[in-house]
Amino acid sequence: MNREIPPTNGLPIEFKDLFSKQDLSRNLSKQLNILKPALTCSGTVALILALETLHELEPEKNQVIIPAWTCPLVALAIIKIGFVPILCDLAANDFQFDQTQLLQKISPKTLAIIATHFAGLYCDLASIVPLAKKHGVFVIEDAAQALGAKYKQQSVGLQGDIGFFSLAFGKGLTSAEGGVLFSSNLQIHHILLEKSKKLPILRDWEIKRKVELIGYYLLYRPATLNYIYGHHLRKSLKQNDEISAVGDDFDLNDIPIHRLGIWRSRVAASAALRLPEHNQRAHRQALLRIEKLKQLPKLKIFEEADNYSSNFPFILILTDNATTCKNILDQLWTKGLGVTKLFVRAIHQYPALCQLKCDMPNAEKFAQCSFSITNSFWLDDQSFEMIYQTIKNIVETEYSISPIS
Ligand SMILES: *Cc1c(COP(=O)(O)O)cnc(C)c1O
Repeated sequence: MNREIPPTNGLPIEFKDLFSKQDLSRNLSKQLNILKPALTCSGTVALILALETLHELEPEKNQVIIPAWTCPLVALAIIKIGFVPILCDLAANDFQFDQTQLLQKISPKTLAIIATHFAGLYCDLASIVPLAKKHGVFVIEDAAQALGAKYKQQSVGLQGDIGFFSLAFGKGLTSAEGGVLFSSNLQIHHILLEKSKKLPILRDWEIKRKVELIGYYLLYRPATLNYIYGHHLRKSLKQNDEISAVGDDFDLNDIPIHRLGIWRSRVAASAALRLPEHNQRAHRQALLRIEKLKQLPKLKIFEEADNYSSNFPFILILTDNATTCKNILDQLWTKGLGVTKLFVRAIHQYPALCQLKCDMPNAEKFAQCSFSITNSFWLDDQSFEMIYQTIKNIVETEYSISPIS
């Protein structure tokens, strides 16, 4: 098989990382100017500890408002601990909440709103935080995709009550699954730390993750990525299983709850020293490519908000109808160029979450009409040009045949 470019801009692991004695919590605290964060075995478990912590402060409340289009693990985590996920639709043609519906979904039982920095981009906290405060609701910043993203020079995750990052494969810095959890509120932060220290050590899971991390060190490059990513993607797509293709096929059993092993945390801590430069380079590359993509008709390219600096793991794009998106992906999804979809369904459309049955037209449309282009440095200008020309042909053809209204 030929080259396979990863779908996101993961930070590769180097040989020396494997022997490091660095402290992950300390390194991230210094780099991001946050309190020394709690570490967990995944972003999902970071979210679980966040919710349990807030529940201790507000024991009567157990509803959690989440975007109707997000990582299915977010909804599963809430269900796993016996809380109730409340879906809120997206605004039309955007990944922000529909503000009117958000207000309607708040009830006396609402514990928290989960505000999500998709694609490392800004989540509209300027609207969400005041609304939450007014109703006595907490805000958790899901910054799983946004490690290194900054708002007014400050790390994301500090405007809400709690923030977390994911260290899963593909989120940038990785420990083969890991979570980073913190708060700017000292009392809350202290509880988060205490809870993370009580997480059990699960030896079998830790061994599995160690092997996966070594696999990532050895195989995360275009010549060999096919073995750990591309092969599975193409096989699932051939079977018309988009959910499995993008790795969204989770259920409640896919959430082991344990500690982040010390060796894996040291590997990530060492790699983390390269993260600021990695993110800066990603930022430069993404801005140039976004400028170019913006020349195309019928597409919305998601950009940075003012005062915001994204880590840009990938570029998120929305087409104006499902057919265009399908045509683009038919051409590019299996080409090994790092073009894919983020979340392929709205939350209630996943078989594992079908009990949440409801109508969320904007989220459903966003799932159908959005796709992503990797911001990996392995996608060189020539390959990006190929992607660009393919998309250009499709949207311009459709533009010219669509009736003038
Ligand atoms: C990946 C992801 C998560 C879950 O993080 P894990 O480390 O995989 O458990 C949560 N929210 C969003 C938006 C994500 O992309």
